[in-house]
Amino acid sequence: MSAFDLTGKVALVTGANTGIGQGIAVTLAKAGADVALVARRDPAETRELVEAEGVRAQVINADLSSIEPCARVVAECVGTLGRIDILVNNAGIIRREDALQFTEADWDAVMDVNLKVLFFLSQAVARHMTGWSSRDGARGKIINIASMLTFQGGIRVPSYTASKSGVGGLTKLMANEWAAKGINVNAIAPGYIATNNTAALQADATRNRQILERIPEGRWGDPADIGGAAVFLASSAADYVQGHILAVDGGWLAR
Ligand code: NAP
Repeated sequence: MSAFDLTGKVALVTGANTGIGQGIAVTLAKAGADVALVARRDPAETRELVEAEGVRAQVINADLSSIEPCARVVAECVGTLGRIDILVNNAGIIRREDALQFTEADWDAVMDVNLKVLFFLSQAVARHMTGWSSRDGARGKIINIASMLTFQGGIRVPSYTASKSGVGGLTKLMANEWAAKGINVNAIAPGYIATNNTAALQADATRNRQILERIPEGRWGDPADIGGAAVFLASSAADYVQGHILAVDGGWLAR
């Protein structure tokens, strides 16, 4: 099982104060990694949960609606925790509106956080990783959080669908370019997970019933359900996995 051990590794997780980001941060900590928590609000609860696992937690305050803080985020993490072995691009937002009424503001806001910042933070971290991977032979790991809408069209979420479809393509592009430079780039596509992101769907009785009817597991996912996939993709057990989009969806796509 040592292939799954992350002891001594440093993970940087964006959007770590709540939901899937918190679930991933805590599970990476359970596997032994120190974790830098990137958030625009104080991720006090996540910090406590990570430190309870006996590893280091670092809070990095950043608003990821623009690429402006990307270089600083990398520098702060490397300055305090020494380096970055694992990047989890989790921060994301969603805007719901009929396609006929959808605004440019709702398009830009979602594309900026979910796609543009994901790419430029990956670029900043990959520049750092290529610095040490050529020296010590270890591999860097980048994990992007995709969606069912990386594969499907969805309804009333045009910019979200565009961004998450883009995350699928970028995951493959980055894997193609950086595999030979010592970096694995993969994605996790969560199914329907009970978080703030899906609060509106959970509150809509009809949509909630329709969603549950299609999930073979018969329940909403929990943020902790995503953690195991993140540990796998972050670990040396996944050194030969590249450009893959791993669905963790209770069987949604199988139906
Ligand atoms: P969530 O609870 O709303 O978490 C989103 C996280 O991203 C929060 O920590 C949020 O911070 C952060 N974030 C958003 N905009 C940010 C910004 N400008 N700067 C810094 N942080 C920012 O929802 P979630 O479901 O856990 O979402 C996490 C990821 O999973 C997203 O990429 C989402 O698209 C994806 N996903 C979710 C589902 C699902 O069913 N829940 C399914 C597929 C994919 P604040 O708390 O400050 O807003």
